[in-house]
Amino acid sequence: MKWYQLDVEQIEQKLHVTANRGLTDKQVEQRRKEYGENLLEAQKKTSRWLLFMKQFQDFMVMVLLAATLIAGLLGEYIDAIAIMVIVLVNGLIGYFQEQKAEKSLDKLKELSAPMAQVLRDGQWEKVNSKDIVVGDIVRLQSGDRIPADVRIIQSSSLETEESALTGESLPVTKHATAISADELDPQDQTNMGFMGTMITRGSGTGIIVGTGMNTVMGQIASLMVNTKKMTTPLERKLAELGKILIVVSLILTALVVVLGVIQGHQIYHMFLAGVSLAVAAIPEGLPAIVTVALALGVQRMIRRKAIVRKLSAVETLGCASVICSDKTGTMTENKMTVKEVFVNGDHLYVTGDGYDIRGDYFLREKKVDGEYPNLESMLLYGMLCNNSSLQVKRGKYLVDGNPTDGALLIAARKMGVSAMEGEKYRIVKELPFDSDRKRMSVIVEDSNHMKFLITKGAPEVLLPRCSYHMRPNGRELLKEQGRNKIEQAIDQMADRALRTLAIGVKPLTKGERAEDAFLENDLTFYGLYGMIDPPRKEVKPAIEECRRAGIKTVMITGDHVKTAKAIAQNLNILPENGMVLEGRQLNKMSVTELEDVIDDTYVFARVTPEHKLKIVKAFQQRGHVVAMTGDGVNDAPAIKASDIGVSMGISGTDVTKEASSLVLLDDNFATIKSAIQEGRNIYENIRKFIRYILASNVGEILVMLFAMLLALPLPLVPVQILWVNLVTDGLPAMALGMDRAEGDTMRKGPRDPKEGVFSNGLGSRIVSRGFLIGTVTLIAFMLAYQDDPANLIYAQTMAFTTLVMAQLIHVFDCRSDQSIFARNPFENMYLVLAVLSSLLLLLVVIYWEPLQPIFHTTALSMHDWMLILVLGALPSVLFGFQTNRK
Ligand code: ATP
Repeated sequence: MKWYQLDVEQIEQKLHVTANRGLTDKQVEQRRKEYGENLLEAQKKTSRWLLFMKQFQDFMVMVLLAATLIAGLLGEYIDAIAIMVIVLVNGLIGYFQEQKAEKSLDKLKELSAPMAQVLRDGQWEKVNSKDIVVGDIVRLQSGDRIPADVRIIQSSSLETEESALTGESLPVTKHATAISADELDPQDQTNMGFMGTMITRGSGTGIIVGTGMNTVMGQIASLMVNTKKMTTPLERKLAELGKILIVVSLILTALVVVLGVIQGHQIYHMFLAGVSLAVAAIPEGLPAIVTVALALGVQRMIRRKAIVRKLSAVETLGCASVICSDKTGTMTENKMTVKEVFVNGDHLYVTGDGYDIRGDYFLREKKVDGEYPNLESMLLYGMLCNNSSLQVKRGKYLVDGNPTDGALLIAARKMGVSAMEGEKYRIVKELPFDSDRKRMSVIVEDSNHMKFLITKGAPEVLLPRCSYHMRPNGRELLKEQGRNKIEQAIDQMADRALRTLAIGVKPLTKGERAEDAFLENDLTFYGLYGMIDPPRKEVKPAIEECRRAGIKTVMITGDHVKTAKAIAQNLNILPENGMVLEGRQLNKMSVTELEDVIDDTYVFARVTPEHKLKIVKAFQQRGHVVAMTGDGVNDAPAIKASDIGVSMGISGTDVTKEASSLVLLDDNFATIKSAIQEGRNIYENIRKFIRYILASNVGEILVMLFAMLLALPLPLVPVQILWVNLVTDGLPAMALGMDRAEGDTMRKGPRDPKEGVFSNGLGSRIVSRGFLIGTVTLIAFMLAYQDDPANLIYAQTMAFTTLVMAQLIHVFDCRSDQSIFARNPFENMYLVLAVLSSLLLLLVVIYWEPLQPIFHTTALSMHDWMLILVLGALPSVLFGFQTNRK
C-alpha cells in the first residue's frame, strides 16, 4: 500500500502518531537518529586542498615560480627559497581569505534556511525544516514551500504548484481523502504534498511520510544541484578592470625589464625582478578581497537583524532611492487591539491594552453588559470566523496566528464570550483570508445541525455583499440610509487610524456549496470592529533619517485609505501636499500615467499585491532604485522586479523569502534603513582598499621604471618587492575593510548606480598618491646611493623602507575623502594593529641579522629613519595641507 491509498487513521497507526498531538520529543530524537536530517545530499564542496592550489593558478605566479626554480638551479639558493616562501605565505593568506568568505556565506545560508510549523507534544512550534522527521504533523499555509513529503490530512482550498517536480505550472487542488488507484504518478496523488513544491492557496495540515533523500524530490535531487557561483556587479566590474590592469602592469614591467637590459643589467636579474614586480603589481587578489569585505559587511548586517541573500544586494543597497514598505507589521507593531465596535448604529468603546483580556465595553460613559443586543453574537461570530488561538504562557495571553484574528478573540473575552461557547459549533469549511479577496469566510454548523456562513473582511468589500443588517429588534432590510450610516462609521473609525473589519452572517439552506460564486452574498451585516496597531517607535526616526539620506519612503497597504493616511501622517511619511492613491484608482491608470504622479505619491491604500508590480515599474521608469517589501506569495513578482526585494523573516512566506535579496529578521522598517546604511558603508570601504592597493602598486612600478630611465641600479630586489606586496597589501588592506564610515553616510544622497568605482576623484587620488610614493622611494634610494655608491645594499634598504613606510602612512590617508588629518587614526584599532605588525615585520627584516642576507638589507641609523619618515609621510601629508587650505 502507498501513502496516498491509506486513510488518516491507518497512517497514524503506521507512524505511531496522533494527528492532534504530534510526536513526542523522544520520538523525534529517535527518528532523527534513524533517518538523519531532512536534507537533500549536500552539494559537493571544493576540497580545501583544491582551494589552496587554486591560489597558485595565476599565470604570473607560475612564471615566477619557474623563474625562481631557474634561479635555484643557477645557484642562487637563498633568493630562490625566500621567494618560494613568500609565494607560499601569500597563497596561504589568499586561501584563508577565501575560506573565511565561504564560511560566512555558508553561515548566511544557514540563517536563511527554511522553517516549518510542526505539532509536537500538543504544541505548535516553528522548527528548522531540516529538523523535521517522519510522523511530524505540519501546518501547510499559502506561500510555504512544503518541507518534506507529506500526506494531507486536512485541507481548506489547498492548492500547490508542483512545477519543480513535474514541470507543470498549473496549480493542483489538494484534499485529504484516500485514493484507491494503484501506481499513481506524483502529479496524480492529489492527497500528497511533495518536498520543495509550493503552496499557492489555502491552508491545511499533513503528516510527514518521507524526509531528505527519501522524498520524491530526493530521488531526482542529483539532477538539480546548482553549482554556479554568483558574482556581484562590483566583482564583475573589478574582474574586467583587473584584466586591463594586468595588461598595463605587464607592459610597464616589460618596459622596466627592457630598459634595465639596455642600461646593462644582467638579463636574468632583470627577468626575475620583472616577474616579481608583475606578481606584486597585478592586483589579482582584488575580487577576492572584495568578496571578503562584502562577507564581513554582511556579518555586520546580521548583527543589525538584516540577512543578505544575494551579495549583489549589498552594493545596490547604497543606491536605493525609494523604499516601498508594507504598513502592517513593518511600520507598525502588528499588535492589534480592538478599541471600538459599531453595533446597532452605536459606537461602543473598548478599554484595555494589547493582548490583556481585561477590559470593558462602554456606550457614552456607560458600561455595557450582556443585555445589549447583538454584541455578544457579533463577538461570537468573530471568534468562529477566525484562524488564531489564544495561549497562556506564564499567566499572560499570547496570540498564536494572525494578530488581526487574535484581536477579535481578545475582544470576545472582554465581553465574557469564551472559547467554550465556540465549541458548540463545528467548522465545516473555511475560505481563507487573502490580500486579494480581503475577506475570510467559514461555514459552521450548530448543535441543531443548522448551517450558516460567517464572513468577515474589509468593510468596503463586505458591505456591498450585505442585503440586511441587524437592529436591536432583529434583522432588517439594509436600505440607503442604513448603508450611509455604516459608511460614515467606517470613515470615522478610519480617521482615528483604526483598522476596520466588518462582519456578516447568512443562514444556509442545504443546496449551497463552498465553491459557489454567490455564496458570500446576501449577508446580514452585524457590525464593525476598529482596531489600533501602534506604529513601531523606531520607525519615525528611521524615516526621517532616510529622508535626510535622499531616500523617499512610501507606504503600501491593504488597509482603508483613511486609516493609511492617518498613520502615514503620524509617521511623517505624508507631506502637506503629498498624494494618496487607492487600488481602484491604480486599476484605471497605465504605468505611464502612474509615472507622471508617482513622485508626488507617498501612500498607496487598499491595494492588492498585483498593484505593487505596477508601482515598482513606475518608480523604476522614473530612474529610481527601488526597495520593495512583501510577505505573502502574491508579493513575490513585485519583490523580484524591484532592485532590492525585501522579505519578512517572521511573517514572510518561503516564496517571498526566496524571491528577495534581503530578509528582515525582525520584520522592522528601521532594519531596512540600517541595511542601507551598512550597504553604503561597505561600498565606501571597498573603495578605500582599492585606492590603497592600487596606489601602492603604482608606486612600486614607478620607482622601478624611474630608476631604469635614470640608468640607476635596481632600487629593489625581487624578494623585497614580493615582501612589500605580502606585508603591506595583506593585513592593512583587510583592516580597511573593517573601517567605520567617514562621518554620517546617511547625510549624502544615494549613489548613482551607473557611477564607476573610480568616480569622485578616486582614480586621480590613486595616480597622484602612487606617483608620489614612487617618487619619494626613488629620492631615498638616490640620496643613499649618492652618499655611498659602493654600498648598494644600503641604498636598497633605504628605498625598501621608504616604500613600506609611505604605504603604511598612506593607508590612513585612504580612510578619508578629504585628508589624512580629517580622521582620528585610532578610531580603527584593527588598522593600527595591522600597521604595527607590518612595522614590526619590517624591523625584523632590517635588523635581525640572519634575515639580512635573505632580504638584502642592512641596519639603518636614526638619521636614516628621520629621512625615511619625512619622505614616507610626504605623499599623504602634502595633499592634506592642500585640502586643509581649500
Ligand atoms: P499591509 O499594510 O502589510 O499591506 P494590511 O494588513 O494592511 O497589510 P491586508 O492584510 O491585505 O493588508 O488587509 C487588508 C484588509 O483586509 C484589512 O484592512 C482588513 O479590513 C481585512 N483583513 C485583514 N486581515 C483579515 C482577516 N484575517 N480576516 C478578514 N479580513 C481581514
